[in-house]
Amino acid sequence: MCFTPAQKGMALRPAKRKRKVPKGQMGVQMEKLTIKAMAKVNLGLDVIRRREDGYHEVKMIMQTVDLFDELTFEVQEENRIEVFTDNQELPCDEGNLIYRAAALLTEKCRLEKGIRITLKKNIPIAAGMAGGSTDAAATLVGMNRLFDLGLSVKDLQELGVKIGADVPYCIQGGTMLSEGIGEILSPLPPVPDCYVVVAKPEINVSTKFVYENLHAESLKEHPDIDGMIVCLTNKDLKGMAEKMGNVLETVTAKHYPVIEEIKAFLAERGALRAMMSGSGPTVFALFEEKQTARKAYEELKQAGYTRQVYLTGFTSDTCVEV
Ligand code: ATP
Repeated sequence: MCFTPAQKGMALRPAKRKRKVPKGQMGVQMEKLTIKAMAKVNLGLDVIRRREDGYHEVKMIMQTVDLFDELTFEVQEENRIEVFTDNQELPCDEGNLIYRAAALLTEKCRLEKGIRITLKKNIPIAAGMAGGSTDAAATLVGMNRLFDLGLSVKDLQELGVKIGADVPYCIQGGTMLSEGIGEILSPLPPVPDCYVVVAKPEINVSTKFVYENLHAESLKEHPDIDGMIVCLTNKDLKGMAEKMGNVLETVTAKHYPVIEEIKAFLAERGALRAMMSGSGPTVFALFEEKQTARKAYEELKQAGYTRQVYLTGFTSDTCVEV
């Protein structure tokens, strides 16, 4: 159920040039808002089975990474959705998940005004870092705030899963167990402090291709997700790192040897663990010491595997205002 300020019995104020009101102040409609859409990695990714409807039942530990896109939302008088981006690889029509999220919310809440959304893209594309899903999530959260629609996180997640299985997680962020097709979420204790090196090889991997080539029933090894949760509860970073695993590596890393090469490179430089995220090809590695992480990051940049290398960390912030 959506509420417009008018339905709540509140007068719509004339539009302001810039947002000056604190978020959540009822009855005042903002005109412009910029929020961060965070990337994720999978600390653990297991596929339980392929369902009859073609979806895969998963058991994953999701983690927000401090790498983000920026989305700016501006109300338009005309009832029209417009998407702009600084990345020429991405479509600006229905092919963009931002557009789809905006259209879904406009229809559900029968919005009379339009929206103009500008995306500053930083998250690597087709990388296994949920770049599109997090933009869709930020669109739902951003428009809910901008139009003061009063939708709960659960309402937004129910809408979000229609766009993609990772969208409900991206709306909430943090450290989460994700089950079902990705929509059943349970919060977990945060990962103990560590430093993270992320590398996106210069190849794009289609999530659809990876799942289609996965033989879920004949997987010989499964990551110990329950064991990882025990380690998180005990704040045992090393124990958790030892148990990390991603069954999708059996497909993606087999096709692209550079994934194992980057993993080995980072492991040799002191990573507690280096692993592929999601359907890949992004590799991320955990380090206990900042200096070790920085050295590995610098050396990986020099090594020439890829130009997309980041030194970052984990966070629980998501969809925060810039
Ligand atoms: P996941 O980890 O959820 O599988 P991913 O990181 O592998 O996602 P995305 O970056 O989300 O992959 O991109 C997958 C495809 O989605 C791309 O080919 C891209 O054209 C399309 N796409 C649509 N909208 C967006 C968007 N806003 N950002 C990135 N990709 C988008």
